[in-house]
Amino acid sequence: MNYIVFDLEWNQGSSRRDHLLHELPFEIVEIGAVKLDEAFRETATFHRLIRPKVYRHMHRITGDIIHLTMKDLEKGDPFETVAADFLAFCGDDFSFCTWGSLDLTELQRNFEYFHLPKLSEEPIPFYDVQKLYALSRGEGARRQHSLERAVTDLSITQDLPFHRAIHDAIYTARIFATLPEEVKKNISFNNFNAPKKRRQEVHIVFDDYAKYISREFPSKEAMFLDREVSSMKCYLCHKNIRRKIKWFSRDGKQYLGAARCDKHGYMRYKIRVNRTENGNCFCVKTSKFISDADMDALRLRQEKVRKRSL
Ligand SMILES: [Zn+2]
Repeated sequence: MNYIVFDLEWNQGSSRRDHLLHELPFEIVEIGAVKLDEAFRETATFHRLIRPKVYRHMHRITGDIIHLTMKDLEKGDPFETVAADFLAFCGDDFSFCTWGSLDLTELQRNFEYFHLPKLSEEPIPFYDVQKLYALSRGEGARRQHSLERAVTDLSITQDLPFHRAIHDAIYTARIFATLPEEVKKNISFNNFNAPKKRRQEVHIVFDDYAKYISREFPSKEAMFLDREVSSMKCYLCHKNIRRKIKWFSRDGKQYLGAARCDKHGYMRYKIRVNRTENGNCFCVKTSKFISDADMDALRLRQEKVRKRSL
């Protein structure tokens, strides 16, 4: 198995072309990638410029960041060609690694815009190196450090300018290689394509929490009628456990609840409702064990929400 560490640079439109901004907010203009073997040794690189088709003017902000001009990009190849070559470079047996979660989404959105076959019909497991780096520092998964900051903090040689796809991919690969195996277990999922069928749903147990990604439902109401979505199970016993706090929500997007396993203690559940572009919805449910104090705090939160809705 190889690791494909990739990075994209993209251009964006101005507000005048709203229909395109929705369909293709970011047009990829550069793909850089590093292939690592199982021992995290660099075995190949990929670096290509893409001739833009949608946004023919370099957005001011983009130009400032990536230091590429339209003249540079005119030398590139069409997205379809570069995408095909990139997939050939990736091979058959690999996992994607990126800095943050945006690149894999925008890659798939560009594939869709240019009518290329989907990268996947279901969520794609990948290594979010930015998240893994935060976890390796004992910080929360949502803590976002810049690539430069991480490279500096890890004393990685800074022999390449940042914000070129290939350089950022190389730096991301170097950071990934330094991370402990324990940390690398925390795989992420890109849900650009949510599961459509039950068998595509994702169930995964990490060291201290579990995650479930549901299939798509026509509505939120239909989704909550599904047992797997609304159930409160202990992820260690795999059994439904006694509900202590029924599902409640402040904003209709995130739902919280809690239950108690006689053997393992209190467990808190969080459901994040996601809308797909075709108007369906699916959810990401996480469950984790919590302390008695956390349980008290959750009860207070529920009480607050209840009072507000009266
Ligand atoms: Zn249990």
